[in-house]
Amino acid sequence: MRDCEYRNTRLTHLGRDAAVSNGFVNVPVCRGSTILADTLEQWTERKEPDNPYASYGRFTNPTLQTLAQAVAELEGGHRAWLFPSGLAACSHALLSVLEQGDHVLLPDSVYGPIRAFAQQVLAGRMGIQVQFYEPSIGAGIAALIRSGTKAVYVESPGSGTFEIQDIPAIARCAHAAGAYVIMDNTWATPLFFRPFEHGVDISVQAATKYLTGHSDALLGVATANERAWPLLRRAAHDFGQTAGPDDAFLALRGLRTLGVRLRQHQASALQLARFLERQPQVLQVLHPALASHPGHALWKRDFLGSTGLFGVVLEPLSTKQLSRFFRSLKLFGIGLSWGGFESLALPLDMPRRDGRPLFGQGQLLRLHAGLEDVQDLQDDLQAALAQAYRVGELCRA
Ligand SMILES: *Cc1c(COP(=O)(O)O)cnc(C)c1O
Repeated sequence: MRDCEYRNTRLTHLGRDAAVSNGFVNVPVCRGSTILADTLEQWTERKEPDNPYASYGRFTNPTLQTLAQAVAELEGGHRAWLFPSGLAACSHALLSVLEQGDHVLLPDSVYGPIRAFAQQVLAGRMGIQVQFYEPSIGAGIAALIRSGTKAVYVESPGSGTFEIQDIPAIARCAHAAGAYVIMDNTWATPLFFRPFEHGVDISVQAATKYLTGHSDALLGVATANERAWPLLRRAAHDFGQTAGPDDAFLALRGLRTLGVRLRQHQASALQLARFLERQPQVLQVLHPALASHPGHALWKRDFLGSTGLFGVVLEPLSTKQLSRFFRSLKLFGIGLSWGGFESLALPLDMPRRDGRPLFGQGQLLRLHAGLEDVQDLQDDLQAALAQAYRVGELCRA
């Protein structure tokens, strides 16, 4: 991996404005609703059509703006808007481009709550035609695009399944039909996937994950190119979306160390993935940086690195065995979310496609490699596997 892709120099310096921070290294937490004008003339100026958003805390705030501009620059987009959660950023990216009667395509591997939002709100309440597609479809998406297709949503790798999508091919087809491409870029972060160089129009970060990086805040960021920005801003304002300055401060602090943290998450996850691939209790490891991964070639072509989250399919095991596995783990917590400094393990229901379990009969787990010493993590997993599959409990062994 080329070191420059971590962009540590930019991460250290971007968004730091001595005028805003009064000489302190960090931009302060600015709490506030009302912004006072000095004169009637200044107030009138703020209400000018090209500057209507400088008048109120919901539209502008130095802490929020600093973070939004930093993320927009890192993603390589035009402007960004902050949301109170990653899910809110995803749903409002969709709401910003879709209208009643439009058609939208989402991958089968999409983050579960966005699938529910698409079905319950977009299709169920707004009269938008929602269609799910096989994530590996690539240029085949052209066959699903119709005159009313307004957006194609992508997420790579997919949530829980880690399938890699051919985003440039999908974007070419979407743009030929005038549709917007919206991407959930949370896994790779802007350091390891440059969405706007691959045809994305709106890129979303669940900043709750790696950007903040310490499991201490919920936050979302949507970055748009020039074409999509007026729509995204309009939707954010119409729905009154903003974020808390304390959370934005934490995300800015997290950004400073994103490069060094990802370097370790990447190395540790790879070591654990390779270790797990060699274990007899493991059927499959779902990590796009492994040569065994079906999306490996695409990942290598388009991505600049891999992060700490991956999947593993264990040999079938009973609830009792699985319970022993989790009881044995001392360093991996059981819990939602990921991207913090701590390791996590989560059992997932095997996703089904066309009525069949996607990765066979085994038990799917999602692992997040945190910043602990990787040998400790490996030992923890090894002990848990031994506890889960005692002698005679693994048919293949
Ligand atoms: C966690 C997550 C989200 C949602 O983020 P929240 O801040 O928890 O709302 C969206 N997309 C992906 C891929 C995620 O992992």
